[in-house]
Amino acid sequence: MYSEKVMEHFQHPQNVGEILDADGVGEVGNAKCGDIMKMYLKIEDGIIEDVKFKTFGCGSAIASSSMATELIKGKTIEEAMGITNKAVAEALDGLPPIKMHCSVLAEQAIKSALLDYSKKHNIHIDGLEDVDFEEDLHEHAFDEE
Ligand SMILES: [Zn+2]
Repeated sequence: MYSEKVMEHFQHPQNVGEILDADGVGEVGNAKCGDIMKMYLKIEDGIIEDVKFKTFGCGSAIASSSMATELIKGKTIEEAMGITNKAVAEALDGLPPIKMHCSVLAEQAIKSALLDYSKKHNIHIDGLEDVDFEEDLHEHAFDEE
């Protein structure tokens, strides 16, 4: 049911923890399996220098957040904005359909942390204004193409 990569990231998640002087912090949750994800970003000159997360939730949510942090570490804000839940799921060699929303949560956590960063530093990040964090994107994971 779960790929080896999902198991690997669930058992040995990368970048777990928090950044005390983070430049942006995002917290999101979903009602489907009660996952709560908190993401911390350290941003220097538009580059994500460091990222940590804390996830209280199912194995897929933990694996998704671990993979998401690996995907955005060392990347620019624009590159991080381009990370979709599908990219996270693909990097994990797939998630069971019923668990796709956990990867959606990882995408939202990144964007929520970037939104916090943009507000604190009074900068504009393209694409953030379209993100709806309240919406449960479970169905979206399938019908947006
Ligand atoms: Zn979950």
